[in-house]
Amino acid sequence: MSGNVTFSMIKPDAVKDGHAGAILKMIEDAGFRIVALKKTLMTRELAAKFYEVHADKGFFGDLLRVMSAGPIYAFILEKENAVADYRKLIGSTNPANADAGTIRKLFAKSLESNAVHGSDSDENAALESAFFFAGTERF
Ligand code: ATP
Ligand code: MG
Repeated sequence: MSGNVTFSMIKPDAVKDGHAGAILKMIEDAGFRIVALKKTLMTRELAAKFYEVHADKGFFGDLLRVMSAGPIYAFILEKENAVADYRKLIGSTNPANADAGTIRKLFAKSLESNAVHGSDSDENAALESAFFFAGTERF
C-alpha cells in the first residue's frame, strides 16, 4: 500500500527568482497539506549526503553547486498516494519533457535547475523527511 507522505524542496534558483509562493500555492491547490516547512541552506556537504545515490554520476558536481547556491525551502507533504501524485504534479526531471501545467514546466530553467525535488519512494520520503526534520513536530 502506498503511503501518504512525501518530502520536497524548492531549489535555490526557484527561490532566488521569487517562485516559492506560487509553487506552494500550486501544491496546496492540488490537495497536499504542508505538515512541516523551513527555509534553510544546504552546504555542499549536506547536498552530497542528501544526493549520495548520485555520487558516481557525471552531473554530481553540478548538482552540489546548484543545490548549495542559495536558500531552499524544505517541506513535508501529506496526501493520499503522496509520492506518486507529487511526482505527477512536478513533472519530468528534464523540464523539456515535462507535461504542460506541471511545476517544472512552469518554473524550471533547465535539467540542472529544475525548480523542485520530490521523493521517489515511500522509503526515501521517510528518510528525506528525517534528514531535514528529525525530532520536529508535524502539524
Ligand atoms: P529530484 O531527485 O531532484 O527530485 P529526480 O528524482 O526527478 O529529481 P534524479 O534522477 O533523482 O531526478 O536526479 C536528481 C537531480 O539531478 C535532478 O533533479 C536534476 O536536477 C539532476 N540531474 C539528473 N540527471 C541529470 C543529468 N543527466 N544531467 C544533469 N543533471 C541531472
Ligand atoms: Mg530523485
